[in-house]
Amino acid sequence: MPDLPDIQTLRLCSMLASLAFFGVFACLWVGRRDESYFLHWGAGSLLYTLVILGFNVSGHTPVEDGLLYALLSASTLAVLTGVRCFDGRAPFPPWLLLPMLASGFGYGLPAQLFGIDSAPARIGGTCGSLLTMALVGGLLVFGQRNVEAPGRRIAGAALFGFIPVFLAAIAAEGFGAAAVNMAALLPMLADPLLLPVLNLGLLAMPGERAQACLREAAARDPLTGAWNRAGLAALGPRLLRPGNAVIVLDIDHFKAINDQHGHGVGDRVLTTLVESVRAVLPAHAEIARLGGDEFVMVLPEASRAEASALADEVRHALGRRLRRLPDLPPCTISLGVAGIEPGDRDFAQGIERADAALYRAKAQGRDRAA
Ligand code: GH3
Ligand code: MG
Repeated sequence: MPDLPDIQTLRLCSMLASLAFFGVFACLWVGRRDESYFLHWGAGSLLYTLVILGFNVSGHTPVEDGLLYALLSASTLAVLTGVRCFDGRAPFPPWLLLPMLASGFGYGLPAQLFGIDSAPARIGGTCGSLLTMALVGGLLVFGQRNVEAPGRRIAGAALFGFIPVFLAAIAAEGFGAAAVNMAALLPMLADPLLLPVLNLGLLAMPGERAQACLREAAARDPLTGAWNRAGLAALGPRLLRPGNAVIVLDIDHFKAINDQHGHGVGDRVLTTLVESVRAVLPAHAEIARLGGDEFVMVLPEASRAEASALADEVRHALGRRLRRLPDLPPCTISLGVAGIEPGDRDFAQGIERADAALYRAKAQGRDRAA
């Protein structure tokens, strides 16, 4: 068993590590002022450094050390305020004061009653830190479950990593086994392992979000927001299920609209069409732009009758919407309805059948579904 390092050396290591992360967050924030979460995370790292320094220079009164414990809690809460900023939420909900008060009074009151640096005071302060870590870690790991966000969960897991460390410190203090200040020694022994994991997790978050945005943008038609062909392909096996209905739709005489009213108006007709479709499309159904003025809708587990009814509903929905927009010319659409059959090898076969039906609708005079 190697000798335990002394607390002063550990304090210095924690301060230097924290200061380094403060520098990274501060540089990132200077380059991107609107991304204020960097400021929160940087402030948290700086505050942690200053609190450790504070414990070194404190006059060690219950008030001073209680305040330092409260600020220690605040340095962890800055992780959460930054994440709330990142999510576009108000960073400082009033309940954030509670863990700070729990840490401050958790140390200050027993220090007043049993003496400064007594085991009850250290245990009280450590319980406050434990509460803060568990709260922030829990919100990072279990919050925003609908978002794919490994970075924030890694950061939350790092905070959870401090919990057994604090429990061990409380147990050591509680059983009187502590020859040294375990409440200070054990967490700082964990710092070189857990601080980088915490901060690297946080640093991964903006990149993850940018990547998700790029993935989304690459899969969407920028004009209408419908899936493009790549997005359609990415929906994968969900599309190719026998029993799914496929509806191909195409604007009637769209070229004439462009020619008579201009391309800008044509664009607005396209976006209005997709808005109308979205308004009547059932949940889990999808719409994609195949190109030009041609779109495909996929309805999961829909009978041919249900799909035909929806095709007519889309036609009427577009008509109603255009009547409310007098600056757009009236226009109609034709639709072809088909289904995914058990022998289909890929989704294109369903589209081909729906396209053939669309061709019939056009041949029969347009403004109808076939
Ligand atoms: P039909 O009733 O047979 O479908 O006739 P149509 O005029 O709609 O068909 P056609 O394929 O001849 O014309 C499609 C037009 O769509 C031609 C092209 O200029 C126009 N178009 C394709 N993409 C866009 C776009 O993004 N914006 C606009 N405004 N027009 C587009
Ligand atoms: Mg057309």
